[in-house]
Formats: sequence, C-alpha cells, structure tokens
Amino acid sequence: MNLDKSVSKGYRSGFISLIGRPNVGKSTLVNQLVGEEVAITSPVAQTTRNRLRAILTTPKAQLILVDTPGIHKPHHLLGERLVKSACSTIGEVDLILLMLEGNKPPGRGDAFIVNLLQEKNDIPVVVVLNKWDQVKLHQYEERENSYKNLCKTNKWPFFRCSAITGEGCPNLIEFLSEGLPLGPYLYPKDMVSDQPERVLLSEFIREQVLLHTREELPHSVAVNIDRVEDRINSKANGTKKTMTAILATVLVERKSQKGIIIGKGGKMLKIIGQGARMRMQKLLDGPVYLELFVKVVPNWRSKPARLSELGYKWD
Ligand code: GDP
Ligand code: MG
Repeated sequence: MNLDKSVSKGYRSGFISLIGRPNVGKSTLVNQLVGEEVAITSPVAQTTRNRLRAILTTPKAQLILVDTPGIHKPHHLLGERLVKSACSTIGEVDLILLMLEGNKPPGRGDAFIVNLLQEKNDIPVVVVLNKWDQVKLHQYEERENSYKNLCKTNKWPFFRCSAITGEGCPNLIEFLSEGLPLGPYLYPKDMVSDQPERVLLSEFIREQVLLHTREELPHSVAVNIDRVEDRINSKANGTKKTMTAILATVLVERKSQKGIIIGKGGKMLKIIGQGARMRMQKLLDGPVYLELFVKVVPNWRSKPARLSELGYKWD
C-alpha cells in the first residue's frame, strides 16, 4: 500500500466500531458518513454479514468505520458467527458508536447491548439516536431522556441524527474526529472501503434479492461471484471499449426459494440482475454484463465449509 504519511501535526486517525441491534441503520450511517454506497442496506434485519471497514478521510482526521452485523440472539451457525464478529470488534477499536433507534422507545435488545458495553468500560462510547427524522418535535426531550436512563451514565455523549437525510452527521464527524488518537493515515486517502471488489459485487446482488423478495424469502440467500472478466465490447471508430462480464450464482436452501428468485418466466431474476448491474456499473465505472444462476444448496447456513467458501470466516 502506498501510504502518504506526510500529514500535518495534530492529525488524528483511528477505528470506530458501529454497534447496535439489527436494522437500527448502521450500514446506512456508514454510507452517509463516507459519502458512497459501500455498505449494503435493507429494511430486512441482518442484512450485513461481513465486517466492513469504510474509510472517511477529512483534512483533520481519518475515521475508519467498522460496520458490524447487528447484535442479537443467534438461532443458527450463521447467526452465531455474525454476533461473534460484532462482539469481537468491541475490544479492538478507539471509539464505539452505539446506535439506537431514536424513533422508537428503548427495548430489551438495547439493554442487552448497553450492558455488554458497560462491562468494557475502558473504551469511550458515543451514542447516536438514529432515525431522528421520524421523531416528532414534542417527543424530542422525552425520547432522549428515556435513552439516557437506559444508559445509566453521563459519560456517554448523545447525538441525534438521521442516517438517511444526513441531519446531525457533520457534527458527529467533528466530534468523532476529535476523539481519535493522534496519528497518520492508516489507509490511502482515496480509499473508501477495505472489502475486495468481489465481495462488494456479491453484496450488490444480495441486496437486490433482499429488496425485491423480502416478504417471501428469509435470509437463506448467499451469492458467489464465479467469474469477473474484461471483454472487448466494440471497436467503433478504432477505439476499444471494454465491458466487465460478471457471472454469479445465487445460493438458496430450498427449491421453492429458487422459484421465487427466478420468478414467473424469469421476471424476478431479471429485476434483481438489473438492479445489481446498475450498482456494479457505478462501482466499476463502466458497462457491466451480468449473468445470474440460481442453485439450491440445502442448509448452507449450517455448513462451516460453505460459510467459509462464501467468505464468512472471521474466527
Ligand atoms: P443495519 O442493520 O443497522 O445496518 O440497518 P440498515 O442500515 O440496513 O437500515 C435498516 C433500515 O432502516 C433501512 O430500511 C434504512 O433505510 C432505514 N434507516 C436507516 N437509517 C435511517 C434514518 O435515519 N431514518 C429513517 N427514516 N430510516 C433509516
Ligand atoms: Mg447493516
């Protein structure tokens, strides 16, 4: 990596882990702070499977945001690995950003996480009350106080913000920057994500599957990128134009799920492919040809070998 260490005196850098229940908006906030769509988001809980580092470089600091799968009670091997992954980041970072759903009163899942963090009281915690765009003005005080009561400490600063509209985010960035230790760039300053391109590509497909089939399909979907290759598209006016051809397989657990993903006459698969292709073209900055296959692998979520093959190997 070609690192430019010639940063000015007083520059800060470090790791910030986003911790919170599934669906509170962690991945949306990562995208909002970094200004690019590096993390996939959806209204379905447990969208985020891999630990993703997103990087925000400002003139004052470099913030490395660690997006984690939400913390919840696991029901299968995949769930177990996800929670383990989220918890294991707690001890490794400079700051913890505890995300709570400001648009709802505190729940039992929140208390579980707060207790977990209080056991590790050596790492500074910043609380973000997210989804504040959905809180009515007359509820502001009461809602914030209910979360302050839940946290039982006045050591943790509170921020109201909306990961969707970006409201409150500049303040948050400022505050987080000041909380990091002095240090140089830890990643090249134009880098926004530490995930390999293949992982992002497969996540784009999974995102579309979750978006378009969420009522019918549980989380038994995984995506494998089988091949990525540059192809010469046309030679008009003597100029070569390349396009990226991507072959990918969507794995499901049951035959009925395969049917849902393919849809009547292949309609659903076409919609999924189109959505993913748009995101891929943005990432790769050029035309993409995408071919999707659907394969049934019973119980892939409970098979360690399959999980590792698909990249869920953080232990
Ligand atoms: P994660 O599981 O914590 O990573 O949550 P996601 O980032 O995937 O977001 C879950 C859902 O909440 C998505 O449908 C988001 O669009 C939505 N969401 C996230 N942040 C906000 C916010 O600030 N306001 C509103 N209204 N919705 C939000
Ligand atoms: Mg997420």
